[in-house]
Amino acid sequence: MNHKKQKNRIKRLFSRFYEVRSGVSFVACTAMILVCSVLISGFSERSTQDILTENALNVNSFTGSDSLNIIIDPGHGGADGGATGANGVLEKDLNLDLSLKLRDMLLFHGYRAVMTREDDSMHFSEGSPLSKKVQDTKYRVDLTKGYENCIFVSIHMNKFVSPKYSGLQVYYSQNDPESIEIAKRIQTLTRELLQCENDRKVKKADSTIYVLDKATVPAVLVECGFLSNEEETALLCSNEYRKLLASVIFEALDGYISEKSTDK
Ligand SMILES: [Zn+2]
Repeated sequence: MNHKKQKNRIKRLFSRFYEVRSGVSFVACTAMILVCSVLISGFSERSTQDILTENALNVNSFTGSDSLNIIIDPGHGGADGGATGANGVLEKDLNLDLSLKLRDMLLFHGYRAVMTREDDSMHFSEGSPLSKKVQDTKYRVDLTKGYENCIFVSIHMNKFVSPKYSGLQVYYSQNDPESIEIAKRIQTLTRELLQCENDRKVKKADSTIYVLDKATVPAVLVECGFLSNEEETALLCSNEYRKLLASVIFEALDGYISEKSTDK
């Protein structure tokens, strides 16, 4: 698909998902962000209930992979805040908000979406902080085992010692060959629609990324941006920018799934 078609797709996506209201324009770092931002600045989010109600008619019309579930995993939560931005923002909060946006978009478009957490919590019985973290992480992977046909998408924010690095980067699990395909879609679409100077490549996850190391289904982890970079942190803290990120990830998943469905 060429750029113009992709831009039109994302325009359609925004107009379907957000209701038009008056608003102020949102200024972002690249020309593409600016274009997309103007598009969405006047939109407000629909309530999840609205989406679900409308979607009740829609969900069974998704042909080709009607039993597919997309498991969205907002990284960290509860006592585990993840990375902290220079402005004090916690990664866990950004991860959750972005994941909920992605979840709502998927539901709206007739997909089945499941969250590993829907609030600021961890899954554990009891134990030391380390043991709780281990139980919580294991829970997230175990959730995938309850679904015969699923894709696991973990949402995180990055951090590095040097503040100069920025840009989204996708990691993929080595355990299922489809993981890299999904990762490439997200990475490529991010460059085409949101970060034209992002030359990052998808990266194979090693054993340090537990959820990808243990997942046996198609699984990716999206590091959405660097909380060690002041400029990017400001963007990530913007509700409008998180809508854009969620839209790009949605669009990539939608493209991947649609292609797989027609391949059958
Ligand atoms: Zn993280």
